Amino acid sequence: MAIDLNLQAPSAAGLIWRVTRNDDPTSEAEREEILAAPGFGIHFTDHMVDLCWSEKGGWHRPQVEPYGPIALDPAAAVLHYSQEIFEGLKAYRHADGSIWTFRPDRNAARLQRSARRLALPELPTEYFIESLKQLIAVDGDWVTKKDEESLYLRPFMFAKEAFLGVRAAKKVAFYVIASPAGPYFPTGIAPVDIWLSTNYARAGKGGTGAAKTGGNYASSLLPQAEAYEKGCQQVLFLDGPYLEELGGMNVVLVTRDGRLITPASDSILEGVTVASILQLAKDRGLTVEQRKVTIDEWREGAASGEIVGAFACGTAAVLVPIGRLKSDDFEIVHDGPEATELAMSLRDELTGIQYGRVEDRHGWMLRLDA
Ligand SMILES: *Cc1c(COP(=O)(O)O)cnc(C)c1O
Repeated sequence: MAIDLNLQAPSAAGLIWRVTRNDDPTSEAEREEILAAPGFGIHFTDHMVDLCWSEKGGWHRPQVEPYGPIALDPAAAVLHYSQEIFEGLKAYRHADGSIWTFRPDRNAARLQRSARRLALPELPTEYFIESLKQLIAVDGDWVTKKDEESLYLRPFMFAKEAFLGVRAAKKVAFYVIASPAGPYFPTGIAPVDIWLSTNYARAGKGGTGAAKTGGNYASSLLPQAEAYEKGCQQVLFLDGPYLEELGGMNVVLVTRDGRLITPASDSILEGVTVASILQLAKDRGLTVEQRKVTIDEWREGAASGEIVGAFACGTAAVLVPIGRLKSDDFEIVHDGPEATELAMSLRDELTGIQYGRVEDRHGWMLRLDA
């Protein structure tokens, strides 16, 4: 492995980054083949970011290194007690070739909130953003030129201290890996069917629902499997009578008069996508309500024609209309065009900003390759 001294310069964040180039990178031909049909989360770029934290030394040894397996002590705390958090955002190529990301300060702040809840150290925002820039500096060629496609960035942090006693780890690792992401809906956007989980919860009061942590996903896998069995693609979780969210996406209801309603709860994950979609709606003069919403309100509203549709949003899919909510006892069907048209036009505006086609009025985009 050759250390690239040209890149070993002090960064904006003041850390000295060590860059070790992959001496067996993916060939251009192979990369083009992968980018022609990337799927999601299957292929990974040639490098990764790796930062260490220790109680004594704080954040140290920032580096970019060849993508590959991580050596862990079998007693590493994460393997036993799930002390882990992650983030997800995307790098987009604009028409002039430049590479950008969307509201990374939001992801950095959320990683800090997740860290507090999981008793992990907070990574400063400058280090978070610098780590994305460092990875793009070596793997920028992996950001596709194709519209609606991107490079998915996955920062994550975990307890690597080898210790079986139960307490917050004193040694922690932070990594960023990247994976080319194809169009989420290769055959065009179709409404999804959602299963209402009544026998499982995603999170409880005072739990970890508001943190982006692997454990929340682990506990959603069984209800998700149940949803598949019922012919649905996703699960909606409740907190008693109140709507929470899907396993990895936030939910918005659309009323006949064009109001957008999204659940407020301490146990849902604050999505960057939903916040941005709702901001764009407010910019259009639409009313946005963030408040408690019961499943009965949705059911009765759908029956009376007051609620005309619903959609789910998150970074990976951006926005998906919900065609049906199914449960053991009832079914809500949204097959009218109004809500879907509104949702799709908000989606187009958001992706327009992300891909540089629409003016970035709010200053949401950050350039990663300069
Ligand atoms: C990541 C995530 C979301 C969506 O957040 P975005 O920032 O919009 O990608 C929603 N719910 C859960 C549980 C998540 O983990």
